[in-house]
Amino acid sequence: QAKREGRNRVTRFDAEHRAYAIRATNVQQHLARALQTDGLDVHYQPVVDMDTRHILGVEALVRWPEPSVGPVSPSEFVPIAEESGLIGEMTEYVLARCLRDLATLPPHIYIALNMSGYSLPRPETADWLIEQMRRASVAPERLCVEVTETAVMRHPAAAAQTLSILRNFGVRTALDDFGTGASSLAVLRELPVDLIKIDRSFVRGVATEPRDLSLIKAVIGLADDFDMDVLAEGVELEAQRSLLLEQGCRKGQGFLFSPAVPASTIAKLAQR
Ligand code: C2E
Ligand code: MG
Ligand code: MG
Ligand code: MG
Repeated sequence: QAKREGRNRVTRFDAEHRAYAIRATNVQQHLARALQTDGLDVHYQPVVDMDTRHILGVEALVRWPEPSVGPVSPSEFVPIAEESGLIGEMTEYVLARCLRDLATLPPHIYIALNMSGYSLPRPETADWLIEQMRRASVAPERLCVEVTETAVMRHPAAAAQTLSILRNFGVRTALDDFGTGASSLAVLRELPVDLIKIDRSFVRGVATEPRDLSLIKAVIGLADDFDMDVLAEGVELEAQRSLLLEQGCRKGQGFLFSPAVPASTIAKLAQR
């Protein structure tokens, strides 16, 4: 009996695994084509001063508008791009769009680019980015590079090296999804980042869960001690906004303010 159950479990696991592999291969092939045919889009989510609601910058988020594989979000296809080696091409695509769109936005607005954990530790990444910015004649302060806490902690020394080259050039740096990857405080203290982005899983309960509030307070205190700025992701409610402001977190992003929208919409929003 036990043996048969064990065998069933293995079979079910194999079937799921095979289904995933088929889906991933399919997504990968269509994504490769979308990259070649200008089939991806980049939308921008405002980063706001939660007190005045002014737009300080925007985060570039890749979109696949007409996927031939059915609805697919970046949380699904970005990891597939990373596993299949398409991530370099995808980042190039997104950066090219950002550099082009920057020219249509007011000069005080910066764009934050998500850099994959795959590219972060590679020595050529920083030089490549700087070269692209020089060619486009974009002022370094108009770009911010976001890297996840998990990616940094995987290769802390190489990540710090990439970030420090970019930051010396004048690019801003941000630590994304903070709180979801086990950070070493010793590493964090030495990390050349200007901004810590508190993951939305902690922002969600800030007005209702005492433990989430404690964590947010601790991160704000830590950022202050390390001379870093702090931003709350995923702000959806007025109660979250006011509590975060009360705690000294002024910067925020979330559906309360705006989802990611086309660059032309940002230009209009910024005029108001
Ligand atoms: P992320 O960098 O943490 O981006 C924020 C995600 O949270 C976005 O999802 C955004 O739409 C979503 N979000 C923003 N405000 C709210 C809110 O108030 N409530 C809720 N529930 N969600 C909110 P999206 O666009 O699906 O992107 C998911 C992830 O995919 C990103 O997480 C990022 O890790 C990755 N990604 C997206 N675009 C790129 C890209 O161009 N390059 C790379 N390497 N990764 C990307
Ligand atoms: Mg991000
Ligand atoms: Mg994030
Ligand atoms: Mg996130």
